Amino acid sequence: MSAKRIGVLALQGAFREHRRMLDGLGADTRLVRWPDELEGLDGLVIPGGESTAIAKLLAIHGLYGPLRDAHAGGMAVFGTCAGAILMARDIEGARPDQEPLALMDARIRRNAYGRQIDSFETTVPFAGVEGGPVKGVFIRAPRFVDLGCGVEVLAAADDGEPLAVREGRALAAAFHPELTDDARVHAFFLERVVGS
Ligand code: GLN
Repeated sequence: MSAKRIGVLALQGAFREHRRMLDGLGADTRLVRWPDELEGLDGLVIPGGESTAIAKLLAIHGLYGPLRDAHAGGMAVFGTCAGAILMARDIEGARPDQEPLALMDARIRRNAYGRQIDSFETTVPFAGVEGGPVKGVFIRAPRFVDLGCGVEVLAAADDGEPLAVREGRALAAAFHPELTDDARVHAFFLERVVGS
């Protein structure tokens, strides 16, 4: 089978780390900054970073419509942290000019963990990922506060709090697998979401 063509949105944030991980898994990767770079992609990763900055740049680069259209046409999307925020239908704590991409029937709250614990690490059992829990790196992480009935929880905290969710060809995680040396969540995206 030929390598999957995966774009990494490279407007701001940890896009290099995602690309490195996907390259390591044998994907045919490309950085995406402009609409024509979405052409022919099987999947797209939206990295963590600052969702307000990414939203601004998505608008300036004319990417909102083309990205939604590409997803509607079958392109899988994986968002981590700020990327997950942008994929949601509703963003609590959004800046007035921060338009959601609305690729997923979910409501998400930005910066939902208080200041004192705004960054932490924990282990996260992840359905469909073999070999034990993955490491969850949370940095000013959001919380999924409401999920539509078509949204599946793949990873949750001990108290049931959803940490990674999927709706068809959209996968979103509140944490950052790209900041670890464990490529299993990216492999899950390539094999089970892009390949579905
Ligand atoms: N708090 C950031 C935001 O709202 C997300 C942080 C992250 O991606 N690590 O965009």
